[in-house]
Amino acid sequence: MNSQTPQTTPLSDRAHAAAAYLRLAPEQSPYGPFRGADHARTRLRLAAALGIGLDRIETQPDGIRRRIFPGEPIIATVKCPASGETYTFLARNPLYDDEPFEFLGSCPECGGEVPLADIRHLADLGTYLARAPLNTRDTDRPDSLPETFQEDAGHSTDCRHGGIR
Ligand SMILES: [Zn+2]
Repeated sequence: MNSQTPQTTPLSDRAHAAAAYLRLAPEQSPYGPFRGADHARTRLRLAAALGIGLDRIETQPDGIRRRIFPGEPIIATVKCPASGETYTFLARNPLYDDEPFEFLGSCPECGGEVPLADIRHLADLGTYLARAPLNTRDTDRPDSLPETFQEDAGHSTDCRHGGIR
């Protein structure tokens, strides 16, 4: 898939490029063709959701939320082409294209990298970025964080969140 801006590339060209990417990328993936397909779909979905090029997204298996069955969680790191800032997202169930990405950031209590917002599109990220920095009071308000925050494996072992270990 090329890195031209969406405004200058015909939709049909971008659609063909996306289909070719999903067909070819799994065969070249260092994670093998099946997990490679999960990584390719994750990159494509996130690029579309954020309006950025595939070349700005790196994916890797999630080492702390691993499962032994298909659909291993994937960490996607996005480098902003304008600012150089990086943003980290989790595809917890990459087999399901209808589930939101989880924006990962520091737990206000333990500093672990945990889900702080569900991201379905660019406006969700904008809403998160516009809010005041999280504090320890936010972690007890169920409407303020994703459902997955409380039990996420990214909390440190001494955090009061993080579930059973
Ligand atoms: Zn924590």
